[in-house]
Amino acid sequence: MVHDLELISVGKTYPDGTVAVSDFDLKVEKGEFVAFLGPSGCGKSTTLRMIAGFEDITNGEVMMMGRNVTHVPPEKRPTSMIFQNYALFPHMSVRENVAFGLDVKGMPKAERDTKVDRILDMFDLEQFADRKADKLSGGQRQRIALARGLVVEPEILLLDEPLGALDANLRRIIQNELKLLQRELGITFIFVTHAQSEALGLSDRVVVMSNGVVEQISPPRELYRRPKTPFVADFIGSNTVFEGSPKGAAGNGFGRIETLFGLIEGVGQGNETLAVVPAEAFRITPLDTPGEVRIEGTLSERQLVGAVGHLKVRLSDSREVAIEVSADRPDVRALTLGAPVTLGIDPAAITLIHA
Ligand code: ADP
Repeated sequence: MVHDLELISVGKTYPDGTVAVSDFDLKVEKGEFVAFLGPSGCGKSTTLRMIAGFEDITNGEVMMMGRNVTHVPPEKRPTSMIFQNYALFPHMSVRENVAFGLDVKGMPKAERDTKVDRILDMFDLEQFADRKADKLSGGQRQRIALARGLVVEPEILLLDEPLGALDANLRRIIQNELKLLQRELGITFIFVTHAQSEALGLSDRVVVMSNGVVEQISPPRELYRRPKTPFVADFIGSNTVFEGSPKGAAGNGFGRIETLFGLIEGVGQGNETLAVVPAEAFRITPLDTPGEVRIEGTLSERQLVGAVGHLKVRLSDSREVAIEVSADRPDVRALTLGAPVTLGIDPAAITLIHA
């Protein structure tokens, strides 16, 4: 199968010796929405710029639609890039800004104008067509940047923190528009962000990066349910991680590790040393299911807010686990601070990973 984009062991070392990205492997299908997620400095933008062709690749190869584009200049790649600050020309009109990419390609004027009019119409920008780009709101500038990126009809749209400059409200609105637009156009989107909610809410798959290395590539739900590395377990969602020593397989894809809190069973081989428990997997009363994991603690905090009870249970290693329960439960209402509490966890919700 030919992929829209394929990165084969792509790496980047800057001239000053900074290793920004190493051994990045990725295959992206047509129409997929893929987010690069990770803390600042982990190599997201460098990777995006290598895909765009703005940055030389130190090692590896970039394929697009089955063609090796590793040494193809940006304007000859089927990509278009949208920058965080939009990189609009402030003294050019909206129309001139949008037409820019087509001018660079040397498109005849009549054809260019037809395409520009069509995209301005699509983004509801006709009434601003002759206004200078610096005389527009953040949301409008964002739309112009999108229009400018899409007018060249790229196969792959590259977006570098495109919502970073917007306030929270506008961000949500444009997030929705972006998702709808992507579905409608069927274009492949590669989206760089350090905002977890954005990556998980928008994309089909997320590439989690740390220190120039790919930690995990998974659909959002899978990142929550089955983190594969300690970094992902710490970075995504809200997990509690228990350390232990391997105790072997327990059958049916489950394994066991011995921890300070006793034997913990979870999804794995049993040769792992960490058990990752998502916050929502803790039950305040045991489930009495086979293999159920039980951990003792004491209630350290109890807040009942409307229908939801926010509890904290302190474990014997003095860690606190936050639990949400129904505030209507009589057993929850009866709990006093310092009371002993048994937590129950379904092993199927626990993931065993290597340290
Ligand atoms: P992110 O987009 O995840 O914030 P970047 O790709 O911008 O990360 O940066 C990755 C690493 O490469 C960082 O350590 C950064 O300081 C470094 N870096 C980025 N650009 C350059 C450059 N032009 N020269 C040297 N180091 C750079």
